[in-house]
Amino acid sequence: MLTQPSHTIIQVALPLPLRRTFDYLAKADIPADLLQPGARVKVPFGKRQMIGIIHSTSLHSEFSAAKLKTISAVLDDELAIPQPLMKLCQWAAEYYRHGIGDVYSHALPTLLRNQDNSWHERTELWRITQKGRLIGLDQLRRANRQIQALELLREHPQGLHQPVLKGLGVERATLNALHKKELAEPLQDQQQRTPWQREILLAESALTLNPEQQHALDQIRLSNAFAPVLLEGVTGSGKTEVYLQAIADCLKRDRQALVLVPEIGLTPQTLHRFQQRFAVPVVSIHSNLSERERLTSWRKARFGEAGIVLGTRSALFAPFEKLGLIVVDEEHDLSYKQQEGFRYHARDLAIIRAKQENIPVILGSATPALETLHNARSGRYLHLLLTRRAGSAAAPQFRVMDIRQKALTHGMSPELLSEIKQRLKAKQQVLMFINRRGFAPVLMCHDCGWFKECPHCDHRMTCHSSPARLHCHHCNHQRAIPRLCEHCKSTDLRPIGMGTERLEDNLTALFPDTPVIRIDRDTTQRKHALGRQLDRIASGEPCILVGTQMLAKGHHFPKVTLVAVCDIDSGLFAADFRATEHMAQLLIQVAGRAGRGDDKGLVFLQTHQPGHPLLQTLIAQGYGPFATELLQERRLMGMPPYGHLALIRAESTNPKQASDFLHQVSVALQATAEQLNVEIWGPAPALMAKKAGRFRFQLMLRATLRPNLQNMLRFSIQQVEDNAGHRIKWSLDVDPVTL
Ligand code: ADP
Ligand code: ZN
Ligand code: ZN
Repeated sequence: MLTQPSHTIIQVALPLPLRRTFDYLAKADIPADLLQPGARVKVPFGKRQMIGIIHSTSLHSEFSAAKLKTISAVLDDELAIPQPLMKLCQWAAEYYRHGIGDVYSHALPTLLRNQDNSWHERTELWRITQKGRLIGLDQLRRANRQIQALELLREHPQGLHQPVLKGLGVERATLNALHKKELAEPLQDQQQRTPWQREILLAESALTLNPEQQHALDQIRLSNAFAPVLLEGVTGSGKTEVYLQAIADCLKRDRQALVLVPEIGLTPQTLHRFQQRFAVPVVSIHSNLSERERLTSWRKARFGEAGIVLGTRSALFAPFEKLGLIVVDEEHDLSYKQQEGFRYHARDLAIIRAKQENIPVILGSATPALETLHNARSGRYLHLLLTRRAGSAAAPQFRVMDIRQKALTHGMSPELLSEIKQRLKAKQQVLMFINRRGFAPVLMCHDCGWFKECPHCDHRMTCHSSPARLHCHHCNHQRAIPRLCEHCKSTDLRPIGMGTERLEDNLTALFPDTPVIRIDRDTTQRKHALGRQLDRIASGEPCILVGTQMLAKGHHFPKVTLVAVCDIDSGLFAADFRATEHMAQLLIQVAGRAGRGDDKGLVFLQTHQPGHPLLQTLIAQGYGPFATELLQERRLMGMPPYGHLALIRAESTNPKQASDFLHQVSVALQATAEQLNVEIWGPAPALMAKKAGRFRFQLMLRATLRPNLQNMLRFSIQQVEDNAGHRIKWSLDVDPVTL
């Protein structure tokens, strides 16, 4: 049934895991111009009040007006999500088949998601007018609220701020009514944005670019419209300097810039570098901020106060007054993909956002994702190369050490030990990379081979020494170190293999006079811990760094001249088809920490597989040729970027329930899949078939053409939802980056 056209229907998106919006009636005393898509509203939902976003308005509803509830309030005077960002959210909800309400809430700081206080710091000061002072109150006889407000304003001739008035029970609508009658007027506070001084954008002068950098910048400068660029530059080639100068251009045009980085907490240097360069406000948005700080950054972006917003994945959804450029640094980084809930890829959405806003976007990396490389090589993106290190630093040299049958001291060959000694003697620093935290990956019974598996996961428990415990890295389950083998009661339990703690111990024993600094998730948990460690490294004293991939990202350690990977073999064999790509990226990034200063760097790799293609092509020829080989493999397999994937995952405490559900889904989707040339594989157990007590299965959808996969999902996701009911926890992952 259709309602009378006289009712305005407001479609509100609520932060619920549902792919739909809800219809409400407009409230008579809310001016229609506040009821715009993007406005934050409070609505009755069941027995409670919820905060949502107006998605759209319409004259019709499929429900009769009598059944619809009325909006309780519009919460802000300005749109919480401005129009261009609404468009991005809608695109993303569509593409990832995710509930629009949840997508919108990603674009809001938490304080605005569930509290109804307004986000204005810029509050209006309301003052009574001459007319308001003189008018007889009896002339307002029928409007009690207006009378009350007018009396208040008469008592406070200097004026009252809007939130104060609100606290005294004066609604905005009442003030607006007084304003219309010219009895009171709002004065804007002075906290309005001060446009940056275009002449003094820079706080320090820019570096003189080398010819490759200059060429890249010139190319980037050619367009102010949508123009995706891949800046592929070896580690230390000065990509950041190119971003900085491109951003300066953008600021000169009085536009703001958005810079995405993988993890700010890990690289405080980056933020510092931006703040040092520019005289305009630089704000950051990342998960270590307090909710209040997040709101402040968000607001500064929204009103154009911030010239530059530097942030992690979620900053992609920051609102801007006038965005002019997006930079995605280390675009290959996996942290750009959200792995739960709304599983979006911030790099991919950055391209969409740039397209919608018609602005340039720069993706930068030394090791571009294969998808990005494919787009660049096929001409869809402008492909710019920086092939050598900037300034005076030379590219590091690689040495692959075959350790088969070699006598090793704590996993280190005599050649490696001698390299370490040499570097320390020359007062340089050494970085030992090992991508496993803890003492040893397994504690094993020497008599029978038993080891402890996590009772909740399909995984062995890692042995830690400080504090001593067995720890499951997948579900966080912990327990005391057993004294006896649970199988044969032997007391001879031995740690097998090497983790960061053990390597630290071993190095301390071998080099008692040299500080060993371990950097992994365990040593950096406390606030400022990482900063202190990085400061120590920056002081330049000779030392040995032991660390996981936390050390691989973006750091600039000028004194490190040797980077060693003791055991690269564990990364060479993996079931996930993307594992090789990720391993190569990690290796090149780690290697990139070597020799960034005046002294030449060496990357020392120990392996039992010296002939492995990853090592052969990657080391001998570089990332580009290596990626070409991988791309050929992908083409043969029809895998991304030559095919497109979506995963439907399901998990349950009962394995049969999860796999049965996916079977049903697979049967239900079969006909559509055939029509659209979509292949359905599975269901199969996930790579880790049991995690935190739940059994996990997945169904993979593959199509050669992206639109086919998109259509398939569009037509079928409701069916999956219906099949699942409330029994099964399931999720959809479009363009998954891990299997
Ligand atoms: P990337 O982002 O590619 O890893 P960076 O921009 O961090 O590289 O540059 C690496 C180092 O080289 C930094 O210390 C930077 O100050 C320096 N550098 C960059 N460009 C130049 C240049 N044109 N002249 C001199 N030094 C430069
Ligand atoms: Zn035993
Ligand atoms: Zn576990």
